[in-house]
Formats: sequence, structure tokens, C-alpha cells
Amino acid sequence: MNIPRSSFPRIVIIGGGFAGIALAKKLRNKNVQVVLLDKHNYHTFQPLLYQVATGGLEAGSIAYPIRKVVQDYDNFYFRLAQVKEIDTETRKVTADIGDLYYDYLVIATGSKTNYFGNKEIEKNSMAMKTIPQSLNIRSLILENFEQALLTNDINERLSLMNFVIVGGGPTGVELAGALAEMKKAILPKDYPDLDVRKMEINLIQGTDKILDAMSPKASRKAEEFLSGLGVSIWKNVRVTNYDGKTVTTNSDLTFESATVIWTAGVKGAAIKG
Ligand SMILES: Cc1cc2nc3c(=O)[nH]c(=O)nc-3n(C[C@H](O)[C@H](O)[C@H](O)COP(=O)(O)OP(=O)(O)OC[C@H]3O[C@@H](n4cnc5c(N)ncnc54)[C@H](O)[C@@H]3O)c2cc1C
Repeated sequence: MNIPRSSFPRIVIIGGGFAGIALAKKLRNKNVQVVLLDKHNYHTFQPLLYQVATGGLEAGSIAYPIRKVVQDYDNFYFRLAQVKEIDTETRKVTADIGDLYYDYLVIATGSKTNYFGNKEIEKNSMAMKTIPQSLNIRSLILENFEQALLTNDINERLSLMNFVIVGGGPTGVELAGALAEMKKAILPKDYPDLDVRKMEINLIQGTDKILDAMSPKASRKAEEFLSGLGVSIWKNVRVTNYDGKTVTTNSDLTFESATVIWTAGVKGAAIKG
């Protein structure tokens, strides 16, 4: 990877998210050589991805260049690299740009979307874990509305205007709220010749309350607020499949929708080895 040798021990950090950056800051100008690897050269402020997805913020507002964070650090190297494998025997990481040996390794790769093994849902739904994915959601929302204007098929139009969010945790709740605000304040102005009142936002939650990990009060307030904004909340419903047109569930409930956003869970972004 073209990193000079140093008399200090080498610490390799994989991941420039909150954890990796916090550690890099702590190690600043200490008696170690630090190599930070990330597959992006920017840090993503994930809590506001939903704002990018719904047009409230530009992508640049939540992406911060990693090189800018570490530019004054001594004996510090950043490399844009996707790590593919770790060999703990030889203390080597293998990335798309080559190999690197370490004395200490910190894996701070965060998490990725969990589809619980359902390949069809993975293929047909949208995820919201990265800036490119949020921009894809934003484009799809607007493309759907453009398409809804053009079609004479009422069922197709309703499907294009039906947004299904799977997972009533913080991400799904925030996204549902932001979509509802778009429906209220932005879309009627942008699409005056479309009946935007027909737009549906369906939030599907597998358990008996949204924001299940939070207090009963927070959950109740969120439900009241979203319902007031016109979001339909379906509790104790689990999505079993989505073929790109129809969402099926473990009950009789189905949804015809051109847009399913999957916010139903994450799993560790593990690296082979
Ligand atoms: C939509 C959304 C909203 C959220 N809202 C909140 C909130 O309001 N409050 C809150 O506290 N938390 C929130 N979170 C959770 C919070 O963002 C995460 O807990 C936090 O980002 C985890 O930090 P991390 O450093 O562990 O991982 P991440 O921030 O995910 O960083 C991991 C980094 O590793 C890099 N990486 C991964 N794999 C590799 C590889 N193989 N090679 C090289 N680089 C790699 C990635 O590019 C990334 O930069 C939200 C998350 C999402 C997705």
C-alpha cells in the first residue's frame, strides 16, 4: 500500500465512521503510526441520511472529507481502500489496493442492511445506509411522481404513489415523517396537476409498537404524530416478500407499491478472515 516503515508500532483502523474517526483523533500525534482505511474518502453522518433521501439536505451537508479531519496529524496515513480479508496469523489486511501488515488492528466497519436472507426483498427494495442509497431513494421518489403524471392506468398511478417503509425503528419513523412532510408541503406545489392526496405512506412494524426500543411514551407520541401527518402504521405485521410490485406479509394484508424502503434491521459489516 506504499506506506513507509516507522519505528513506532502500526495501528490499522478499518472504517472512518464515528468509531474510527473518534479513535483516530485520540491517537493523534502519539508514538504510533496510524493507517486509516475506508472504502469512501468521506465520513457519512448517517442520522441525516433520511433528509438527503427526501430532499431536505444536499449530500454534501452530511459527508465530510476524511482527509480534512486528519490533515495535520503526524505519522498518519489515510488510504481509500475496501478491505476484503484479514489474516490474523500473519497480521495482514488485504484490500482492493494491496496488502498491509499491522501490529494492532481495529475493525470499525459498522453495520449493513439485514434482509434476513430474503434475496428477492434485497433485490427489489431500497436501503438507506449510505449517501448513494439515499440519493437513489430521492431520485426514485421524483421519478415515480413524474411517471404517475404520465400514466392513464389508475392502478399503476396508485402504486407509483404508494410508499412502503418496512421497519418502525428510528430510521423508518424519521423517513415516514419526512415523506409525509414532502406530501404536505412540497409535492402539491411541484405536481399541481396530480392529486397528491392519493399518495400513501405505509409504515410496517413487526412488533406491537413503533420505536420498540424506546420508552412507551416515545413510541405513543411518535405514533400519534405520524398518524396526524397521514402515515398509515401497521403493527404486528411482518413483510414476507416483495417482487417489485406486491408486498406480501404474514397476514392477509398486501400492498401494491413501486417503492419499498427496507429499514427493518442491520447486521455487522464483517470482513472475511
Ligand atoms: C439512517 C440512519 C439513521 C441513524 N440515526 C441515528 C441517530 O439519530 N442517533 C444515533 O445515535 N445513531 C443513529 N444511527 C446509527 C449510527 O449512525 C451508527 O451507530 C454509527 O454510524 C456507527 O458508527 P461506526 O463507526 O461503528 O460505523 P459507521 O458509521 O457505519 O462507519 C463504518 C465505516 O466503515 C467503512 N467500511 C465498512 N466496511 C469496510 C471495508 N470492508 N473496507 C473499508 N471500509 C469499510 C464504511 O465506509 C464506513 O465509513 C443511524 C444510522 C442510520 C443508517
